[in-house]
Amino acid sequence: MNDELRVAVVGAGPAGLYVADSLLLQNEVPVRVDVYDRLPTPFGLLRYGVAPDHLKMKSLSKVLQRTLDDERVRFVGGVTVGREVPVDDLRAAYHAVVHTFGASSDRRLGVPGEELDGSASATRFVHWYSGHPDVAADAFDLSAESVAVIGVGNVAVDVSRILVKDVEALRRTDIPSNVLDVLSSSRVREVHVLGRRGPAHATFTSKELRELGELEGVDVVVNPAELELDEGAEQRAQADPDVQRNLSLLREWAERPRTGAARSLHLHFWSRPLELRGGERVEQVVVERTAVDESGAVRATGERWTLPAQLVLRCVGYRGVPVEGVPFDDGTCTVPAHEGRVLREGGVSTGEYVAGWIGRGPVGVLGTNRSDAESVVERLLADAPGLQRRDDVDIPARLRSSGTVVVDGAGWAAIDAAEIALGAEQGRPREKLATWDGLLEAAGLGAHGRG
Ligand code: NAP
Repeated sequence: MNDELRVAVVGAGPAGLYVADSLLLQNEVPVRVDVYDRLPTPFGLLRYGVAPDHLKMKSLSKVLQRTLDDERVRFVGGVTVGREVPVDDLRAAYHAVVHTFGASSDRRLGVPGEELDGSASATRFVHWYSGHPDVAADAFDLSAESVAVIGVGNVAVDVSRILVKDVEALRRTDIPSNVLDVLSSSRVREVHVLGRRGPAHATFTSKELRELGELEGVDVVVNPAELELDEGAEQRAQADPDVQRNLSLLREWAERPRTGAARSLHLHFWSRPLELRGGERVEQVVVERTAVDESGAVRATGERWTLPAQLVLRCVGYRGVPVEGVPFDDGTCTVPAHEGRVLREGGVSTGEYVAGWIGRGPVGVLGTNRSDAESVVERLLADAPGLQRRDDVDIPARLRSSGTVVVDGAGWAAIDAAEIALGAEQGRPREKLATWDGLLEAAGLGAHGRG
């Protein structure tokens, strides 16, 4: 390395921007960081994953924006690494490349009927209510009266809450206005959340779970018989205060009399979906009851019940997808690495690192990425004296001169300003531009038929 460390970060979500920030905060070496993203906008899951009504979490974008505003950082948006720019070109042009491209797809449920109309992944539903440009505004109509939400993680909680929450409470958020319109005319009356194991094994956190019990006009329904704990579950609850808090919330709700509210939210445990049934559209979920055996493992009981549902949202976890030219472990859907250093052909790949969900899998809250980024940057800095740039080229400039559309920091600032202005017209914090053409036009790049 000569005088200045040049780093490419692939993915402008929280993980990538925390990596950039950690690089800026160190004093060992002068740095320049280019943050690439497939989308014309930064913030990844914070913009397109965190629920719109989680305003405090959403406000983290102000902190991440400060990183982008630093003169040593450039945003390189609308550029797909592996397509518009080969990874090997980045590895040659920068001392180091840090992959932080997240887990953008969803896990499969693996049951018959999963492909029926009316069965959708949480990724798609969350993208829709977050105004993601890859999902059409009319992708969901909420004409269903009964919705099955599969999985008992925090995504299932978010999705269920958005489905039953009073729409007036969402008007103060940046949820897109077309989504507000659909929610206003929603026919959803019942939401059934299905957990394939017992309540002590649910992955939702108590802070998120508690919000469900506070929703106006919603009866939360829990079967007390499903809350009985076996010895293993008891031990789990003793060891984890969050599990204990979840259980006491669930017990409280199990005792609450129903008020006859217009909407009800049912939390079912020991309920494994076996099949989605319907004609063209999904109509039912066939569910099998599960139980624990003597060894504490979950087993099928053979007992089945049928849940009518005209919409099924599969919230069974995110999944990383490979980027052309980047090593990928098909089993874990992550980039293989040892302590943040990417492994290629069994050895450490010099100057190539990974952080965030594409490194450790889709678990942990946003803040987990902060410590993850710090430790990767520590390793990168330890390696820095031996890192080389083979190619003295400015990749964003080269992309632009070859006609590739690149949204830079000013382009993103223009999108941001346009969205805030549109929102202000409606007395709302922001109206997201939810199409590729809309985003690129606002960035001053005209419509380029992307998407
Ligand atoms: P998750 O916590 O891994 O939950 C996935 C759920 O799907 C689990 O209940 C899992 O059950 C179930 N599941 C998996 N495969 C299944 C199958 N074939 N059939 C039935 N159920 C199945 O994932 P997530 O909810 O997508 O959340 C991802 C991460 O983002 C988590 O770390 C979460 O905390 C975080 N997040 C946080 C917030 C927040 O802080 N507000 C919001 C959203 C997401 P098993 O446990 O039995 O496998």
